[in-house]
Amino acid sequence: ASLVVAIDGSSGSGKSSVSRRVAGVLGLACLDTGAMYRAVAAAALDRGIDPGDGAAVAALARAAHLEQSTDPAHESVVIDGLDVTAAIREPRVSAVVSEVARNPEVRAELVARQRAVAEAGAVVIEGRDITTVVAPDAPVRLLLTADAEARVARRAQELHGASDAAALAATRDSIVERDARDAQVNDFFTAADGVVEIDTSRLGFDEVVDAVLQVVVA
Ligand code: C5P
Repeated sequence: ASLVVAIDGSSGSGKSSVSRRVAGVLGLACLDTGAMYRAVAAAALDRGIDPGDGAAVAALARAAHLEQSTDPAHESVVIDGLDVTAAIREPRVSAVVSEVARNPEVRAELVARQRAVAEAGAVVIEGRDITTVVAPDAPVRLLLTADAEARVARRAQELHGASDAAALAATRDSIVERDARDAQVNDFFTAADGVVEIDTSRLGFDEVVDAVLQVVVA
């Protein structure tokens, strides 16, 4: 069977960039499952669909033609012909994505698509429920954790290119709130049975990558 590396973690755990680097080093594909929920949220906003309209958003997700690059060196997400690669990172999408992701029908649809990628193998898959729901039988399962200060500092750096007091304050509320909402759906603060936890709070990027690679080759 070919290798599947399942990685979960909260926002600001560094899991997306770490997953891409690990996939690149190992010559694997990389699937960012958060980008799929973000693409559905962006498409809903684009069409004037209320993210809280569960039936409408579920219908959108089921019918959506999603083209997502799994090349770790090239990020690209297109939904129904609309390139949302940049749009899915905008605050207006981050603000509504948890509501979209809490929709059980949306989850069922996207989890099925993610499982198909996992079954094909040779892939790093990252998200919130990969080690528990999408690929619970993956040979390598990891949870990246980080304390709140580290998560906020990383996200401030990503969003504002800075981690001064103003950038931290602007980031803290949105992150803490989204993590709390998301954790009601999947507890990605606690490692499930057999999942290796790596606390990244005091590790640099290369150190986290090395720690993940050590688990993969162990
Ligand atoms: O990882 P990222 O922050 O881009 O994920 C965006 C959102 O997608 C999360 O806040 C969460 O609501 C949702 N998500 C999820 N399950 C996953 C990945 C992401 O519910 N496996």
